[in-house]
Amino acid sequence: MDASKEINHLLDGFASLPEQSLARLDEAKEAGVKVVGVYCIFAPLEIIRAAGALPVGLCGKRQEPIAAAEAELPSNLCPLVKSSYGYALTGTCPFFMASDVVLGETTCDGKKKMYEAMERIKPVHLMHLPHTAGLPHALDYWRAEIERLKAFLQELTGQEITPEALRHEIDLQNRVRRLVVELHRVNAASPRPAISGGRMLPILEAKNSWPDLEDFAQRLEALIAAVEAYNAAGLGAGPRPPRVLLTGTPIGKGSDKVLRLIEEAGGLVIAMENCTGLKGAWTQVDQDAGDPLDALARRHLALPCSCMTPNQGRYDLLEELIPLYQVDGVVDLSWHACHTYIIEATPLGRHLEDKLSLPVMRLTTDYSESDVETLRTRVEAFLEMLS
Ligand code: SF4
Ligand code: SF4
Repeated sequence: MDASKEINHLLDGFASLPEQSLARLDEAKEAGVKVVGVYCIFAPLEIIRAAGALPVGLCGKRQEPIAAAEAELPSNLCPLVKSSYGYALTGTCPFFMASDVVLGETTCDGKKKMYEAMERIKPVHLMHLPHTAGLPHALDYWRAEIERLKAFLQELTGQEITPEALRHEIDLQNRVRRLVVELHRVNAASPRPAISGGRMLPILEAKNSWPDLEDFAQRLEALIAAVEAYNAAGLGAGPRPPRVLLTGTPIGKGSDKVLRLIEEAGGLVIAMENCTGLKGAWTQVDQDAGDPLDALARRHLALPCSCMTPNQGRYDLLEELIPLYQVDGVVDLSWHACHTYIIEATPLGRHLEDKLSLPVMRLTTDYSESDVETLRTRVEAFLEMLS
């Protein structure tokens, strides 16, 4: 099989994982395994798995359940919160239905109040996240929240979380995160990369639901080898499309219109800094730390989400990614009513424009298709500027 065909075959495999995940979850539940629904990269998946439970991503990425959510929630709320809550209310997300409990964190106001409402539908364990990671007592506080989660999960599953089990899960998650970063590196090495942003998205999404991490890591290794073969065969030669780095709020299938518009207009989303993309993959948990819970607390608290103040880590991460992937321009996407990302967009954009002389386009939208043509015009004009 030539490299392009092999890549297509492997990508089809990734795209089929969410559906297969449901069958795996059913089997696990029949065997008495607990399923923990999560909404955010601050959720320490390693602890959930070390307790013998399975984490599954629940973030609402589609427009359909929003109308039902608006019967209870204000309409001027972030679509991600409304979509997530709408799925819970209508029972239309099979992953939510399969979850025994929900794990939430006090990230933004919309989410933390949503969890309060969600408690009427499903048990919720809420972790209290400090919002200034650099304060000396923030780490102690977050570490205590991780201990509280550990006790909750042990009670839920009846299984003790041993340091050995935790180290094993840390190793696995670190391996997957490193491979995601490596895939982006090899993919960006050719002028015309083998995998577009649109084709990378199902891989990043599948990672949130596929329970067999060892298998996921092997699929990533096979894909990296296929992309290396593609590059070595010169299949990625030719005119270089303008490279865009997408930052801001998370996206997914159903809320990927900005990514789609960039690539339909001839651009290439070479990487995403958001939490769907590299934000959650870039840093690893220290495998050699004496205390694995402490190492987990340190790594998760340092995640550069806009719910943190200040959020210097996002500036630092973007400054690392932009030269690495030879980015020509940045698109900063905020969902309507996501105050933290919307407010951060202005100083961040100014910083990238001034310090890196990089064009930045700030977009605020929601999950609906009503503004697609207006967005298309803006995206096309932006790409024209980059060419
Ligand atoms: S944007 Fe921040 S709060 Fe929202 S899901 Fe991502 S990491 Fe969590
Ligand atoms: S996109 Fe913004 S408002 Fe929406 S859930 Fe994430 S942080 Fe909260």
